[in-house]
Amino acid sequence: MKILITPKSFKDYKAQTFPLLEELGYEIIANDTGKTFTEEEIIGLAGEQVVGIIVGVDPLTEKVLSRCRDLKAVSKYGVGVDNIDLKAAEKLGISVESAVGSNNISVAELAIALMFEAARKVSVLSANVKNGGWDRVQGIELTGKTIGVIGGGQIGREVAKRAKGLGMFVVLYDPYFNDSEFLRQYGIVLCDSLKAVLAMSDLISLHLPLTPETKYIINSDTLKLMKPSSILINTSRGELVDEESLYTALKEKRIAVAAQDVFSKEPPSPDEKLLKLDNFILTPHAGAYTAEAVERMALYSTQNLIRMLKH
Ligand code: NAD
Repeated sequence: MKILITPKSFKDYKAQTFPLLEELGYEIIANDTGKTFTEEEIIGLAGEQVVGIIVGVDPLTEKVLSRCRDLKAVSKYGVGVDNIDLKAAEKLGISVESAVGSNNISVAELAIALMFEAARKVSVLSANVKNGGWDRVQGIELTGKTIGVIGGGQIGREVAKRAKGLGMFVVLYDPYFNDSEFLRQYGIVLCDSLKAVLAMSDLISLHLPLTPETKYIINSDTLKLMKPSSILINTSRGELVDEESLYTALKEKRIAVAAQDVFSKEPPSPDEKLLKLDNFILTPHAGAYTAEAVERMALYSTQNLIRMLKH
């Protein structure tokens, strides 16, 4: 019985995790390539005898899942499961779990960092100085601003709490949210209209799963509702935003800045036109890449896999 482990950064925590699997008799196939696997590569490695996969962002499509004939469980090293065909997994009797709570603080902190970068342009100022300049770029304060947090799950709540701590007015949009105690405790307002939240906010931060319902939730129509001074933060998934419409809105200064940790195609092509805009900021899907989150993701995903395989 074998376990395939695809995430590149998993190897840093193999001393803490591999023995947990090995003592149960599993042989481990680790990813030593430093790359994300393709469908064919996963099928080649996990087609037979592999009962469990700990997966990063590699594609576990219906084609892959159906060709991994001994596969019983998939454990996500992280939380976004949009690279896994959940319907196919269910049909094939393959259990799927994500490492809930492993990286919410880290992603929330990056979202806040992107807000400060958009507001104060720290990396631009530093680059100016390193290039021999001493020019300042005028910023804005976050305190007193209204932030619309779209999605009130594990990460959205951490962002909302931190924004409250910064003295911001926090409005949450999440049609499935039902924790009134959280709203009361932190003084957060729940609004049932996305349009209203987009129109009233100085900053919008997306904390949504990518689903058919949320794909392109930010599009030419919704961008039109936002203030020209507004800042869009996306640390969730690239396809929540229609990038063509975002490009037009940023170029025409219909919104002020977009700062993202994710992109529809990762990595983006070097001639991607959004990358040429000064008011577009992109980090390389680094939200969960902290020492603390990576350790938790490795441990939680290993424990989840062991639990699923025991059933
Ligand atoms: P979560 O499941 O805890 O929360 C998602 C929230 O979105 C839920 O409260 C749900 O009710 C809400 N929601 C669903 N559909 C909605 C809609 N149409 N409108 C408004 N709200 C809606 O997920 P999470 O842990 O907070 O993670 C959010 C996303 O962040 C993940 O799905 C993943 O894509 C992304 N993520 C990115 C990184 C990174 O490295 N950048 C790391 C972890 C997660």
